[in-house]
Amino acid sequence: MIKLYNTLIRKKEVFKPINKDRVGIYSCGPTVYSHQHIGNIRTYIFSDLLKRVLIYNGFKVKHVINVTDVGHLTSDADVGEDKMDLAVRKEGKKAGAIADFYFRQFKSDLKKVNVLFPDVWPKATEHIKEQIALIKKLEKKGFIYKTSDGIYFDSTKFKGYGKLAGLNIKGLIEGKRVAKAEKKHKTDFALWKFSSPDSKREQEWNSPWGLGFPGWHLECSAMSMKYLGARFDIHTGGEDHIQIHHTNEIAQSEAATGKKFVNYWLHGAYLLYKDKKVSKSTGGLYTISELEELGFSAGAFRYLCLLTHYRKQLNFSLDNLDSAQKAYDKARRKIIELRNEKHKGADFTRDYELKFLEAINDDLNMPRALGIFLEALNDFDFSPAKKLKLLEKFDRVLGLGVKDIKEEKVKIHAEVRNLLKEREGYRKSQQWEKADILRKMIRERSFEIEDTPKGPKLRKI
Ligand code: AMP
Ligand code: ZN
Repeated sequence: MIKLYNTLIRKKEVFKPINKDRVGIYSCGPTVYSHQHIGNIRTYIFSDLLKRVLIYNGFKVKHVINVTDVGHLTSDADVGEDKMDLAVRKEGKKAGAIADFYFRQFKSDLKKVNVLFPDVWPKATEHIKEQIALIKKLEKKGFIYKTSDGIYFDSTKFKGYGKLAGLNIKGLIEGKRVAKAEKKHKTDFALWKFSSPDSKREQEWNSPWGLGFPGWHLECSAMSMKYLGARFDIHTGGEDHIQIHHTNEIAQSEAATGKKFVNYWLHGAYLLYKDKKVSKSTGGLYTISELEELGFSAGAFRYLCLLTHYRKQLNFSLDNLDSAQKAYDKARRKIIELRNEKHKGADFTRDYELKFLEAINDDLNMPRALGIFLEALNDFDFSPAKKLKLLEKFDRVLGLGVKDIKEEKVKIHAEVRNLLKEREGYRKSQQWEKADILRKMIRERSFEIEDTPKGPKLRKI
């Protein structure tokens, strides 16, 4: 039994798929006008954990992550510029080239943090036909109206608008007209925006209503329904999508089909920096590659994410990443040691397995699951061979790459090697105090000495 926190009802509930053993998940994808920062990546680690938990429980998962390469405006109020157009002007390149570049970077970063790739990566620009067809359906049912700058969805015509976010629609609508976008109501939203007659856009298409481009919310409805059906199981995204993007996806999809669109809405909490949401439009924060340049591993970032529940905001700092890196390295070293351990031990597989399953099935409680993983790893009485097998199984969810952990060849600086040699000299002549001073000096250079029967070994700390 898997319990998931459903934003729609604001509580945890037992997950029941539409089909017996197949689950459809749609995750709102990157807007590819810039790099995906580690806040974005945290949200994809969250949907990856969700997918892995479902697979661990025996479900077959069809996962879709879209690519937003048109239509995401700089303002949620349907005014402002398309973010892709801004990038075209800034970078002086074609929109397609910009989208390809950042999409490739995104995939490379996801790989580094061990996120399983989705079955489909649909691009908005390759699904214009489907988006136009969806507007036509809404037109037939009387949900749309035209203004001078686009085609809008009339949110007052959809009963239950705002149910996901618990919006007080009455308060939002009364007396408020948004002059610039000529909307009838504040909560109405653009399905299709017209190209401006005096500035030619690179990305524009003909439609029954005029030359232009689709709205961002529309693309997710059209592509999710194309690949997962008019009704599907789970939709994910960051918590910033609840109020507007997902609220509008529900409205237009359910208005068009007359069916419940998605059963479970799951949202990942923000990654913060100095208590503020990390946001791409205000400069973002580190990317995974930038963390690597600073000497951290992508795996350590995943480890850091596992330490905080996905519904809790994570205040990022290089110090907490450093602690995660140390804990992650320690676990990796123990796993390498475990492979060489030969002592006998009891079989606690079942006990740990039950605890682990309970944790992951309780709304993806990864901090607890990781704790159980480490408890098993450190359990000396647990048979090493059975333990290793179990940890590899747990890793199908955690994704720390247990099977691939190898002894890493660490570059040892000549200075450290010389200090080690000098210390050996003092040890041989039993000058322990001097030997200890050298151990300290080596430690200050981030290496720990382990004295083994075969001689001293250096380990990076
Ligand atoms: P975008 O590329 O801006 O469309 O965002 C991609 C995904 O990252 C979306 O699911 C967002 O909700 C999510 N996201 C954006 N900023 C953050 C953040 N600071 N922390 C976590 N997720 C975020
Ligand atoms: Zn979306």
